Amino acid sequence: MTQLERALKSEITEQVRKVALDEGVDAQALAERVAAGKVVIPANTNRKSRILGIGGGLRTKVNASIGTSTSIADVKMEVEKAKIAEKYGADTLMDLSVGGDIAGIRKTVMGAIDLPVGTVPLYEAFAMAIEKYGAAVKMPAELLFEVTERQCEEGVGFMAIHCGINRRTVEMLRKQHYRYGGLVSKGGSYMVAWMEHNGRENPLYEHFDRVVSILKKHDTVLSLGNGFRAGAIHDSTDRVQIQELLINCELAEIGRSAGCQTMVEGPGHIPINEIEANIIMEKKMSGGSPFYMLGPITTDIAPGYDHITAAIGAALSSSYGADFICYVTPSEHLGLPYPEDVREGVIAARIAAHVGDMIKHKKMDADKAMSKARRDMRWDEQFRLAIDPERAVEIKTKRGDGDEHSCTMCGKFCANDMLRGIFEKDMAGSDKK
Ligand code: SF4
Repeated sequence: MTQLERALKSEITEQVRKVALDEGVDAQALAERVAAGKVVIPANTNRKSRILGIGGGLRTKVNASIGTSTSIADVKMEVEKAKIAEKYGADTLMDLSVGGDIAGIRKTVMGAIDLPVGTVPLYEAFAMAIEKYGAAVKMPAELLFEVTERQCEEGVGFMAIHCGINRRTVEMLRKQHYRYGGLVSKGGSYMVAWMEHNGRENPLYEHFDRVVSILKKHDTVLSLGNGFRAGAIHDSTDRVQIQELLINCELAEIGRSAGCQTMVEGPGHIPINEIEANIIMEKKMSGGSPFYMLGPITTDIAPGYDHITAAIGAALSSSYGADFICYVTPSEHLGLPYPEDVREGVIAARIAAHVGDMIKHKKMDADKAMSKARRDMRWDEQFRLAIDPERAVEIKTKRGDGDEHSCTMCGKFCANDMLRGIFEKDMAGSDKK
């Protein structure tokens, strides 16, 4: 039985208890949210992984995506990236490999870390079709289900599956004269090409009940993929993107009714004034399914800094109610991320998720503690509270002048030192607040 089915039977599972303890929420109330489909707990029955919850009332979670391309397929580097993602605080990891021995890489990566691992099974199916039949469009539909089932058996915790693409939406894409920035989802573009070549409906949409029954069997969370997400600011929130969101929200409800844990994926590239509307639509139309935002990237003109453009979008998304954020690295739009890009991406996304949670959950305790530690120049406490303590210690040490008490930012003009004596007594009052 899935976590959802067990919650519907009023069972408070050990996973629910663990999440409740970690998040400081009531286990009974959490189980009710799992039963309602508002929280998912990736807990594939075939693999032991870190237990966490994604959804309403919980800390915003961060996913780091790694994976080979057809140009660079270095297993050692992918393992290093996975370990870096775990070390710097990603909550989950997606292996999006499309090059080399995809199954072998996934197995090695899953063996190297403790995080729940997500995949896009369609990638492996299309890669196998290219190798076996010479073209992705020649993929037998059955292969999609076989690969999905095999990955569930291996213990994949959640899967992005592009069920929301259908022929009617492809027709809408034509009617709106395609798109300024085209289709940027690998899964989306390959699936549309397959449908057009074969003159057939998307098997994942047509046989959605099969997708649900495979994932449900292993309690893999179904993440309804965003194949029509905008890849350009100019295309955001267009009819095609909203049509797919609408279908995905409907499928989320159907999947949930069948006992499968589901969540819905969001954009993409989007200007900041459209983020809230996307979140309101998803939450309302899906009945509160967890919303997994991919970034979102908020401007198209900062290649090399897209971890920042995405962090801006992720902070706003989280504050408006998004539950799960996929990081973006500085190498987005330019090349396959290297290990150092993974660290930058994870930290940027974690900062964004925290900034959102400060508003969403009114979680300001860590910030208050940091402010006081700064005022009192308690450096060890500042490092302990830092999102990336290693970076903070490194900068303080490298740019120090031997004065352990203050720092070289202001040197002898240290503002904290200047007023300490004057306000010493008053400080005690502010410390109580
Ligand atoms: S020197 Fe400036 S930056 Fe450094 S602790 Fe003092 S006030 Fe803060």
